Amino acid sequence: MKIKVLGCSGAEFPKHHFSSFLIDGKILLDAGSIADVLDEKDQLKIKSIFITHAHLDHIKGIPFLADNILIGNKQGRVDIFSIPPVIKAIKEDLLNDVVWPDFTKIPRGLGSILRLNKLKHGEPLRIDGYCIIPFKVNHAVPAVGYLIETPTKRRLFYSGDTGPTGETWKKIPAKIDCLILDVTFPDKVEGEAIRTGHLTPGLLRMELSKMKNMPERVYVTHTKPQYLKTITSELKRLRINHLRLLKGGESIEL
Ligand SMILES: [Zn+2]
Ligand SMILES: [Zn+2]
Repeated sequence: MKIKVLGCSGAEFPKHHFSSFLIDGKILLDAGSIADVLDEKDQLKIKSIFITHAHLDHIKGIPFLADNILIGNKQGRVDIFSIPPVIKAIKEDLLNDVVWPDFTKIPRGLGSILRLNKLKHGEPLRIDGYCIIPFKVNHAVPAVGYLIETPTKRRLFYSGDTGPTGETWKKIPAKIDCLILDVTFPDKVEGEAIRTGHLTPGLLRMELSKMKNMPERVYVTHTKPQYLKTITSELKRLRINHLRLLKGGESIEL
């Protein structure tokens, strides 16, 4: 499995793009950045998008991708997957023919460019040889993280945005090889992190201590660039091996 980090930022600035992780060129986890990072050829290869929650920094790439598919490949189809409240928000608040055209109905008569698909917590979906399972996480709005298992049983868990959550770690069945986890804020604003459903380096350490098995690798995502320096030194002080901040544009092999 090759995971390309299109964006892993908790705020938008030049060179800091919102959350989007491209798996083997065709499955996307979150859609914070697509058309602002990928060229047309690579945009048209995306076949499935798994959304963790409906916050704009995780869905804003969808409408612009659909628009580019209409020009670049009218036959192109993309399946969007998530839990029902997220699908509802995408349909009613984003692709509502007011904020943006409803690409679940375009082009008319030919089958639509976007197809919205509902997932259930804990129920596996098999796609392109991968098994993908959504698990509820604790955020300000309904949200899931995704467990992605390769045919050789390598496991990635991408948390999306999450605050402290005991239940998620109890439900995930087996050892995770690679964990991508939210650290949005530094320790000094822990109260704000908890209130908004995010983690700090200190809260991250507590989450890791709740897991039965320590993941082989831990990557930190969704950091606010304004706090990058502070968070970097706080993470260093945790002295956890195989833990580091993700960088936009890098690729990880699993
Ligand atoms: Zn969020
Ligand atoms: Zn976010």
